[in-house]
Amino acid sequence: MDVDILIRGAQVFDGGDGPPVEADVAICGDRISAVGRETTTLSARRILDGRGLAAAPGFVDIHGHSDYHLLLTPTAESAVLQGVTCEIGGNCGYASAPIWGAWREDRARSYREVYGLDTDWQEVEEYFRRLLQPGISINFGLLAGHNTLRGSAMGGEDRAPTPEELAAMVAALERGMDDGALGLSTGLVYSPGCFASAEELTTLTAAVGRKGGILTTHMRNEGDGLLDAIREVIAAAAAARTPLQISHLKTYGERNWGKLSQVFDLIESAQRRGVDVTADRYPYTATNTGLQAALPRWALEGNKAEQTARLRDPAVRARIRQEIGEGPGTRDWSQVMISEVTREEHRRYQGLRVDAAARLAGQEALEFVLDLLYAEKTQGDAIYFVMSEENLRAILQKPYVMIGSDSGCRAHYGPLSRGRPHPRTFGSFARVLGHYARDERLFDLSTAIRKMTSDPCRRLGLADRGRLRPGYKADVVLFDPARVRDTASYEEPFRYPEGVHTVLVNGAVTVEAGRHTGARAGQIVRRT
Ligand SMILES: [Zn+2]
Repeated sequence: MDVDILIRGAQVFDGGDGPPVEADVAICGDRISAVGRETTTLSARRILDGRGLAAAPGFVDIHGHSDYHLLLTPTAESAVLQGVTCEIGGNCGYASAPIWGAWREDRARSYREVYGLDTDWQEVEEYFRRLLQPGISINFGLLAGHNTLRGSAMGGEDRAPTPEELAAMVAALERGMDDGALGLSTGLVYSPGCFASAEELTTLTAAVGRKGGILTTHMRNEGDGLLDAIREVIAAAAAARTPLQISHLKTYGERNWGKLSQVFDLIESAQRRGVDVTADRYPYTATNTGLQAALPRWALEGNKAEQTARLRDPAVRARIRQEIGEGPGTRDWSQVMISEVTREEHRRYQGLRVDAAARLAGQEALEFVLDLLYAEKTQGDAIYFVMSEENLRAILQKPYVMIGSDSGCRAHYGPLSRGRPHPRTFGSFARVLGHYARDERLFDLSTAIRKMTSDPCRRLGLADRGRLRPGYKADVVLFDPARVRDTASYEEPFRYPEGVHTVLVNGAVTVEAGRHTGARAGQIVRRT
């Protein structure tokens, strides 16, 4: 046999801007060996009929959270059934590694309690080994996380690090980069990252830049303080001469929707000054994060036990009420849906808006939220309906914006089949292809594919992925451009998309006729 797999007669999108061409794709082992029409005389172990289908490079999710999810659901159905063949995890400041000390024990305890999962690593290399032990169905790359580094070095305290603590963060970050991490992520809205100064951010950004990595940032503020938050991260990237990826770019809250043109001005004027800044976004107008993100940042100091204990203090409750429960900044609880809880007795609240759940519990909304967070030990997730569709479209259309799901992989069975997660987990990539590119014509299909293939790979320094070209890794998606669409909704999020036929991961047929084959050919991706 000349080749292992031959895809015949597909419309080939090579990951660039050009229109598709009808061609064959030949694969030997885990690499593409030829693309074109001169393959007709080749003999192949396996022939896949691509007629009527689009062939594209496997989709790369530049903004994922599967660090722990992949250990619970190594087959990554929600991702690979959309055509995602590679995810970059460790985003928003929270990474599986490097992690150490009391912070590691705290995380380990909660994963053991909630999922029965043992987490025995500290370093990135150890984590990668653990991930590959059972095998994974998608490729995975990791960012080190600022919150994880800071928590490990100095706990959840609201203060500046000592020189020794800062040195420990930098040293761990450098070890992580040497082990194959692709960069550093921040979650400056979350504890304990929110306690960091701009100087701390710049020091770490410079360290990651020296190692050739990028900074991805969930900024300090995406609403009232959005413009200052963008200025802060652009200044850090410029001072540290490090490429910057703004994560899930958005204008949070209706009163901030009008800031979008200033957002674009800040980013584009920085680009003109030579700052290397790009962004990503998921194709939905609701966010999904911890319910505790509804609280003021001072309430989040310390470890989980300290945060939880604080929620019982009447003085703390009164202060929270004053800040978010009354007056002009009052939270509209009808815009917040409880998506996932850990305790059985709270499951009846999943899928309900907070105001409705509070009525069910016979409580006032803020009291209900504080009691729920206390009983859940500050865990529990929520979906916040706070964004503008018009702004979403404008953001997606920007040439420097890529597609990221901002979610951890799941499946319709197993430990991650519960709750009402955000539909972006099961639908992001199919939604961009079907809804926004084909139906709404925000951009053509080549552009949509570029945003999820070659753009993120270039950003991350993955030189042998993201294109359908000879010599590249054989991550390939075959889908029906007329039928591809997302089907997951806020009400029914556990629904796989339609129209994705075949997915190859490193040359292994991982999805066939829209079904997972069980293959686990995923690899760790590193800068090349
Ligand atoms: Zn985030």
